[in-house]
Amino acid sequence: PHIAIHNIKASAEEVFLLLKNAHPHVNMTMNVKESSLPWDIPYDQDQIKQVLINLIKNACEAARKENPAVTLTLERKATSVLITIADNGPGIPKEIQEKIFEPYFTTKNHGTGLGLAIAERIISEHHGYLWFETSEEGTHFFLELPAEEIRE
Ligand code: ADP
Ligand code: MG
Repeated sequence: PHIAIHNIKASAEEVFLLLKNAHPHVNMTMNVKESSLPWDIPYDQDQIKQVLINLIKNACEAARKENPAVTLTLERKATSVLITIADNGPGIPKEIQEKIFEPYFTTKNHGTGLGLAIAERIISEHHGYLWFETSEEGTHFFLELPAEEIRE
């Protein structure tokens, strides 16, 4: 990855607006938690935007048909930035939870099954974490990026 310092709040806002325009029927909200710590952190801008696109797109596709809703939340932690993408879809069935990050695994008629595999690879290259919590009320994907450069 080409890692440089960028404003993660600006990148997230940009992707949020892009996806909001692409999914006008979904009630999309963005929630930025106040912090005195900077939003400028090291990451590959194209790659992290791609991850956000993949996760928000999945959330929009999973959101329930009646009053679909997706929420993007940004939170500055002491040494990281936590981004949450929440939908009000039916959740991820237990039987497939272990498979969703596998390349080409999809439950969609025209899915590629690559969105989460790519997201996982990019986040691991950034020394970050990607995980989810799911129930019958919806799914939360969590993406945590280190706020400081990691020396290898
Ligand atoms: P694709 O979107 O092309 O199917 P992904 O890798 O993005 O590929 O996702 C793989 C699978 O994980 C999806 O087909 C779907 O079954 C499941 N999935 C991903 N995100 C969600 C979500 N927010 N809610 C429910 N299922 C999800
Ligand atoms: Mg996808």
